[in-house]
Amino acid sequence: MRTRFAPSPTGPLHLGHAYAAILAHDMARQSGGEFLLRIEDIDQSRARPEWEEAILDDLHWLGLSWETPVLRQSDNLSAYASALDTLWAGDLLYPCSCTRRDIEAALIAPQEDASVTGPDGPVYPGTCRGRHCGGLPCSLMPRPEDRHLRLDIGAALGYLDHRVDAPDHGSCGLAFLETGPAHAGDVFTSGNDFETRIGDVVLARRDMETSYHLSVVIDDAAQGITHVTRGDDLFAATAIHVLLQRLLGLSTPIYHHHRLIRDAAGKRLAKRDDARSIGKYRDEGASPADIRAMVGL
Ligand code: GLU
Repeated sequence: MRTRFAPSPTGPLHLGHAYAAILAHDMARQSGGEFLLRIEDIDQSRARPEWEEAILDDLHWLGLSWETPVLRQSDNLSAYASALDTLWAGDLLYPCSCTRRDIEAALIAPQEDASVTGPDGPVYPGTCRGRHCGGLPCSLMPRPEDRHLRLDIGAALGYLDHRVDAPDHGSCGLAFLETGPAHAGDVFTSGNDFETRIGDVVLARRDMETSYHLSVVIDDAAQGITHVTRGDDLFAATAIHVLLQRLLGLSTPIYHHHRLIRDAAGKRLAKRDDARSIGKYRDEGASPADIRAMVGL
């Protein structure tokens, strides 16, 4: 068993992160496996070395230990570029110039269906979908106004359906589970919700040359992660990750989606909620055992 914790150094570690990290760590330790750490710093406009330092310090303080070296995503951009090339050659990507405002405007146009929220916000209405390059070698984002590379979900599902060597891909539909632990196998059980509830997600942004979805899939495979523990809020994202693994011929880890840690008002914790940061609790004299107790471990 090999598990990981993959924080983004864009803010302090809070109780929700501590819960995910401790779960993954303990799961590995209890089975004699390995626990890895990965710094997810592809968004260089928000990542800060001082947050990375503070996160490592909090994790050490919590009593966690991990294998070295620690993978930093900003050092791995060539691996993401090569995955994009593979998807591009399969004619599964297209360049997109839509701004957030363009998407919102398209979604309120009378001919469009009511907007649905997917894992990354409103489901993309497909405005730029006609801009495939037929997999021909060409610049991935040819026009200066191109902002993103999107995965054509319909083409991706068709590609898997027509690939004779696709192992056990089933119908590639998507069953949403509301809460609780889920196995990746549950993600692809029935229906065609994928196109309507997830849509053509962004796989690369011009300013970071990759995306969370692409990088996390490449790195979990590169690091040989067998079990991923993450919050219930990432359940729809997991569906994208399983789809990408199938498209790229990567193996799928077992996903355990855990409950979210909420504040007293029931609101899920966010990085900006400094009040719940581990550093704050440490300053107030809490012990690592207190933190475990606070998250119900
Ligand atoms: N960097 C992501 C986060 O902090 C990792 C989530 C995951 O893939 O498990 O939310």
